[in-house]
Amino acid sequence: MEKSHLKWVSLDKYFFMINLVLFGKPGAGKGTQASFLKEQFNLVHISTGDLFRNNIKNETPLGMLAKSYMDQGDLVPDQVTIDMLEAEVDQNPQAKGFIFDGFPRTEAQAGALDAFLKEKQMEISATLALEAADDVLVERLLERGKSSGRTDDQDESKIRNRFEEYNLKTAPLRDYYTKQNKFHSVNGIGSIEEITHRLTQLINSLN
Ligand code: ADP
Repeated sequence: MEKSHLKWVSLDKYFFMINLVLFGKPGAGKGTQASFLKEQFNLVHISTGDLFRNNIKNETPLGMLAKSYMDQGDLVPDQVTIDMLEAEVDQNPQAKGFIFDGFPRTEAQAGALDAFLKEKQMEISATLALEAADDVLVERLLERGKSSGRTDDQDESKIRNRFEEYNLKTAPLRDYYTKQNKFHSVNGIGSIEEITHRLTQLINSLN
């Protein structure tokens, strides 16, 4: 009895788990879209940026460390981010799947994520990249900065530094996921609903 139940759970995970990576430059709309997709597909949304910001708000040691990097628009060191992400996944053992938003952002993070999921007989189903031109993104971020209070959104030179970090460290993940046949580009320009529709169609067409 116990054994067949376990088998069912692992088969269920194997066949039905959807684990998505939302990929795109700062301001591409990852967080906005993740909040719709998690409802639609019943997934747990993990945003590393939100986790860091919560730690900063609560003045935890992790928050203090992250803040020194985030304020400059630099990435937080890999191992710190990987440990935090893995702890968050482990806190959701009943999840039907995950949306990873803002993670992975480096090849080291992507490799660690693959290894970590494999240990749990899980894997990334697809990486969905929201595409938009830099000028549009800078405008969106400066607009967001007016109301969000995020200091990294209020200064154009910090925003440009985040783009540089992205080009240098995150952009190579395109090749990483393309080699695994998991990379999908989505036009990130349009209304929020239009973009949700594009993403939904793509997710429904997987497999
Ligand atoms: P955005 O995508 O708009 O830049 P996020 O909220 O995803 O915003 O991230 C804000 C900041 O948090 C990043 O600039 C970086 O300093 C830090 N951060 C978030 N995710 C990661 C990650 N996976 N690795 C390293 N640093 C991260």
